Amino acid sequence: MENTESQKPYKLASREYKKENTIVEIPNNRGQVIRVGGSRIVTIAGPCAVESREQMLEVAAAVAASGAVMLRGGAYKPRTSPYSFQGLGEEGLKYLKEAGDKYGLPVVTEIVDSSLIPIMEKYVDVYQIGARNMQNFELLKKVGMLGKPVILKRGLSATIEDFLMAAEYLLASGTEKVILCERGIRTFEKATRNTLDLSAIPVLRGLTHLPIIVDPSHAVGIRDKIPPMGLASVAGGADGIIVEVHCHPEKALSDGPQALYPQQFDKLMHDIEALAPVLGKSIAHIRLQPLALSKEKTDKENEKKPGSILCAYSGNRGAYAEQAIARYFDSEAITELPTSSFSELFQSVTDGKADFGMVPIENSLAGSVYENYDNLSRFEDVSIIGSVTLNIRHALLGVKGGRLEDVKNVYSHPQALSQCKKYLENHPEWKHVDAVSTATAAKTVSQLESSENAAIASIVNASLYGLDVLCEDIEDNPGNFTRFVVISANNAKPKLKMMNVTPKTASIIFKTKNQPGALYHCLGIIDKYKLNLSRLESRPIEGEPWRYWFYADADISALGEQIPELENSEKGIREYIEKAVEELKTMADDVRILGIY
Ligand code: PEP
Ligand code: MN
Repeated sequence: MENTESQKPYKLASREYKKENTIVEIPNNRGQVIRVGGSRIVTIAGPCAVESREQMLEVAAAVAASGAVMLRGGAYKPRTSPYSFQGLGEEGLKYLKEAGDKYGLPVVTEIVDSSLIPIMEKYVDVYQIGARNMQNFELLKKVGMLGKPVILKRGLSATIEDFLMAAEYLLASGTEKVILCERGIRTFEKATRNTLDLSAIPVLRGLTHLPIIVDPSHAVGIRDKIPPMGLASVAGGADGIIVEVHCHPEKALSDGPQALYPQQFDKLMHDIEALAPVLGKSIAHIRLQPLALSKEKTDKENEKKPGSILCAYSGNRGAYAEQAIARYFDSEAITELPTSSFSELFQSVTDGKADFGMVPIENSLAGSVYENYDNLSRFEDVSIIGSVTLNIRHALLGVKGGRLEDVKNVYSHPQALSQCKKYLENHPEWKHVDAVSTATAAKTVSQLESSENAAIASIVNASLYGLDVLCEDIEDNPGNFTRFVVISANNAKPKLKMMNVTPKTASIIFKTKNQPGALYHCLGIIDKYKLNLSRLESRPIEGEPWRYWFYADADISALGEQIPELENSEKGIREYIEKAVEELKTMADDVRILGIY
């Protein structure tokens, strides 16, 4: 664009005014910051209206366990009919805040009139301007002046330009923390409550730097049709969604027919989690406890950033494991520690040199990373505390200003070269050169400073090593996923405490006895405890020919539902699995829980 002066009627909201995406930061009461607009998908959930203290505590527990990061609930409801439930007012704000605080969820609630600001200010983390008030300019000005984050909902019949002009009012009043919310518009269509304008997401993305979330609940209005539109919103590039959830929607005082049951919401969160790696994103979780850094460690021991938390990985800067670290941890709180092999990685975690390790465990095309299964059995003092999946995308990187026509040599890890076979077949004249890792290949190409060389590596290496992207997404199969597990030492004081999110996987290893039916009997115990076996891998035991370690992953996400006595509590689930493992010990040798996460 030649003229950088915005031609649009809105200025502060425009992309021309600010090129990079705005990230709205919302702190919670646990010292964490929820970021809307970054690489993490945020989910806001809760009922349409606050109805009682019990209702809020019950629904907050449910949505927090499924991974919501903020709690919604209206205390002042702008109802179409004056005879409908109007909300509990300040009493409702109290219940909302109490429930949010209990689970570390900042609260979102609608403000319908600026006269309510003095009452609302002490309870509210994020103000919502409802669709009906999108053009209540006096309200926008007053709320904008507060400087608190605001979710601005698109008006029932507002064009995208009207919508951005309303955002401009908020920005012009002094706040920068504006989140746009597409919630469906009025059309001639009667089959749904409104018509969800999904294309508004990419359109807005081009016009504005502000974060964009979607409310599929008010858009669609029909319970069973909301989850697919929630997924579509995320697939369409939304930074998050806001969804109505109620534990007893048949009794809800407003919008019952569109409230998801907690199980439906949980399923939606699972589906979003599965979709996220395809989009190069992950899910925001309320999972990191205030970073209580151990005082015993000196700054020198902590290296680089003083007091930072170290996560080891194998490889160079730019390795896919680094992306996994950024996805899993809040990248600002973590420092990556490169190691030169997987066993060095495990050793550094065991020795406490690193707080965590990021370990690739399986690839959807190439299968298991056996070396790391072996390391998990060898290093008995580490456990798995989490996992993260990456969609592996390869790019062809060349020197700055280099052209595809000049390329003669392609450097990469042999596995990456084989994953781009079809693309490379189109260039039979290129010489393939093996490198120890994709990142090393990128580094080599940058050092050789010749346009004859190119590397196959992840796109992040382009900026890291000052290279140009010659071609993107050159892998044969887009279904190329790598799953990493996060390990930590068993004896380490936890620096980051996982919370809220109910564990989904239990990993166990055991050696079967050398007798007929041994594996069958072990699996019988796993079955008896309703542990849904999702993976079973065997590895030969060193020095004991024809005996094997078995690695079992169990999907335990539905355990809470199947066994109500566990009350879906993390402690209950842990104790239950420990009991199962005790019983497994009667049938197997060296049984060990690798992790419940
Ligand atoms: C709501 O979020 O409860 C609500 C009333 O939404 P909208 O303003 O989009 O209708
Ligand atoms: Mn509602």
